[in-house]
Amino acid sequence: MTTETHAQTLTKTPDISIVIPVYNEEKNLPLLFERLTAVVDKLDRPAEIVLTDDGSKDNSLALMKSYVEKRPDIMRVVEFDRNYGQHMAVMAGFETARGDIIVTLDADLQNPPEEIPKLIAEMDAGHDVVGSYRRNRQDSVFRTLPSRIINLIRERITGIKMRDQGCMLRAYRRNIVRMIVESGETSTFIPALAQFYAERPSEVEVEHAARHAGTSNYNLYKLIRLNFDLMTGFSLVPLQVFTMVGMAVSAASLLLVVYMFLRRIFLGPEVEGIFTLFAILFFLLGVVITGLGIVGEYVGRIYQQIRQRARFRIRAIHEKN
Ligand code: UDP
Ligand code: MG
Repeated sequence: MTTETHAQTLTKTPDISIVIPVYNEEKNLPLLFERLTAVVDKLDRPAEIVLTDDGSKDNSLALMKSYVEKRPDIMRVVEFDRNYGQHMAVMAGFETARGDIIVTLDADLQNPPEEIPKLIAEMDAGHDVVGSYRRNRQDSVFRTLPSRIINLIRERITGIKMRDQGCMLRAYRRNIVRMIVESGETSTFIPALAQFYAERPSEVEVEHAARHAGTSNYNLYKLIRLNFDLMTGFSLVPLQVFTMVGMAVSAASLLLVVYMFLRRIFLGPEVEGIFTLFAILFFLLGVVITGLGIVGEYVGRIYQQIRQRARFRIRAIHEKN
């Protein structure tokens, strides 16, 4: 709500906001700034660029502040007090953005800024969420293969259709962004949430480049965490599958008990096969621990949410207009 009143006090409300999360991107920012401002100037519509500094430890913040000085007409910078992760950085950008169409992209130039007009055109055609998928994804197979598998599992479990969940070049209508902000979720996945709220979603094909400089901030561990957020945030299927596995195992064990009982009566007790028993036990132990883990994933998120701590803290907003 505060963002609304803030927007109303301004004389010039931008049509388009471009929101970018930034974490240690000093090597990419100069080129990003150059290419992005060129694109924005060509749009010929009132626009703003909202950069969120997600607690960068390099020179990123200083660079971004200098861009506010250079282009006070379009640049705004949200400064976090520490690192809260990509999605919270986008969330803060959403809270601050004033445009009617809000576009997100990455700071590392993997999403070419030149594709933004394509998304805006699709929004103008009447869609409220425009996603994108990468034409020839410039990542190693170690990234593309797991992400393809994860995409499939995610779609089966959550029922959310997205051709390319990892592509952050997306456009959202203001009402969708407001719903996302007001959801108040802490561990969330913004494109999925948007897809969930969207009435008329669409997707366009975009180019994809290799990271301009630096290395990805995501390692395997972070990727797994992100996908847990996706699964637990949008579905109870993992819990239900687990219940069903439990029931199936119980039924099978019951059959085994009956068999052993009959065997004991007619053939006598059996003593062999002790290691088979161990194998089965260890397997089941694994299943139980996994189940505890899945329950824990949900409980942990409930706990996080219930504490009602602030999702992030904005130290300052640097802007001139
Ligand atoms: N990012 C962020 N906070 C983080 C990690 C990443 O704001 O804790 C930003 C990063 O600066 C970039 C975007 O999120 O603009 C995507 O990050 P990255 O390129 O590392 O991820 P990948 O493209 O490998 O998925
Ligand atoms: Mg990247």
